[in-house]
Amino acid sequence: MIEMQDVWKTYPDGSHALRGVSVLIERNEFVYLVGPSGAGKSTFMKLIYREEVPTKGQISVNGFNIGKLKPRKIPYIRRNIGVVFQDFRLLPKMTVYENVAFAMEVIEAPKRMIRKRVMEVLELVGLKGKANSLPAQLSGGEQQRVAIARAIVNNPAVIVADEPTGNLDPETSWGIMNLLEEINFRGATIVMATHNKEIVNTLRKRVIAIENGVIVRDEPRGEYGYEI
Ligand code: ADP
Ligand code: ADP
Repeated sequence: MIEMQDVWKTYPDGSHALRGVSVLIERNEFVYLVGPSGAGKSTFMKLIYREEVPTKGQISVNGFNIGKLKPRKIPYIRRNIGVVFQDFRLLPKMTVYENVAFAMEVIEAPKRMIRKRVMEVLELVGLKGKANSLPAQLSGGEQQRVAIARAIVNNPAVIVADEPTGNLDPETSWGIMNLLEEINFRGATIVMATHNKEIVNTLRKRVIAIENGVIVRDEPRGEYGYEI
């Protein structure tokens, strides 16, 4: 599903964010990406959703060599990858419904499909009753649920989540994890960067640790392995 071969990423200012990363993530895996701040986790994820391109090496996602993608093919890749951020990144002037529908509108989904599918995913995330609320009227956990609904609405093969529980209290975080597990159960491949030791050590999954731009550990059902 996701394959990196000797991937290097150097930013224009000379920072070496990734230094020779090779990894294979199979369809339907759930992977935690751990490591200190500045290790390269966000860069790893940005390369997957094609926010950044590698300086060297190859990345394929869902069979596409995405480093070499023609610009007109980028929307196609984006619809196959859902992205969830720590700070939710909802559009503040749009309702919950509109925030989720917007992701279908940008890929020009047929209008009649949009209403049905948006209500379906809002039900899945437990927010059908809040369709007409604005993000500011919701709790943090609810806002993250909206962001997850938006990420899955186009039925992507891959979900990339960059510290999705980073702004949430522990109880709310477990709710978000239940939801991500459900989405994984339904077939999505999930890559989640996290500093949440308790979650990683309790909901055991594959753990890939990155330090200084290099994979230093890759274990099935691994542990968090850091103090904080
Ligand atoms: P993490 O997500 O693990 O905190 P990042 O991928 O954000 O790590 O950062 C890896 C390294 O790349 C850090 O040294 C960071 O300062 C640098 N970096 C990240 N983004 C940029 C950027 N846009 N421009 C320059 N350097 C960057
Ligand atoms: P938060 O994550 O915001 O702290 P909850 O996890 O309890 O709070 O869920 C947010 C909202 O969604 C609440 O109003 C809750 O009643 C509702 N909710 C949560 N899960 C479901 C579900 N599976 N079905 C229906 N409603 C749900």
